[in-house]
Amino acid sequence: MKKIQTPPLVLEIKKKYLLEHLDEVKKLIETWIGELRAPLPFSRERHFELESVYSPASEVDPDRNHILRHHLKSRALWNHHTNWQRSLENIFQLISEIRTRAEELLLEMPLAEKRDYTEDYLGTALWKAFALTREKKFELNYTIPKGREGVALGAYLIELSASTLEELNMVIHQHKALVESISSKTGMELLLAEFFRAEDLEGKMQKIASTALASNNIIYPCKFCKYLWK
Ligand SMILES: [Zn+2]
Repeated sequence: MKKIQTPPLVLEIKKKYLLEHLDEVKKLIETWIGELRAPLPFSRERHFELESVYSPASEVDPDRNHILRHHLKSRALWNHHTNWQRSLENIFQLISEIRTRAEELLLEMPLAEKRDYTEDYLGTALWKAFALTREKKFELNYTIPKGREGVALGAYLIELSASTLEELNMVIHQHKALVESISSKTGMELLLAEFFRAEDLEGKMQKIASTALASNNIIYPCKFCKYLWK
């Protein structure tokens, strides 16, 4: 029996579509590599969803997730990925525990009743406590906000009423003490260790995926392109 040949025109069209698809796959992988980065815990500068475990945007979409998992075949890559997800879940858990302990520490502090503290008072203290645990040094640039009373830390107002030098110094002194106390008493070291574990896995995944891209090791079928290969 003679095999029915696919008409040359159809072959041409399939080839064109396949090349377009592989181009999109490459762009998707590039985007995804950039997303393999756990947000800095308590960061005020790189905001992220605090209410849930971090997940790359490309993976949230089921179709794009399917493409990634079928065009990147490295088993080591997806093993690292499983461990990374576990690490991100631990980070999320630790963040929530540390926040609770920090709130308790704040309640124990002898804060002046007359002062008007903002939400960022604790928020920036958590952020800087993580930085202190990581860098082993203080980097706290307190300022007096222009045209108003109170104290700011970087771009964030932490207190709204201090006006005399004594009051300003007291707010700054107590905030520093809170940063130090959160850094040493809430399990921040555990969070840092878990964050380093996640970072290490991110580096490994980025390397494998980048090598696959550079060597064109992505030419596998997925459900969107499998009919184009025949
Ligand atoms: Zn495909």
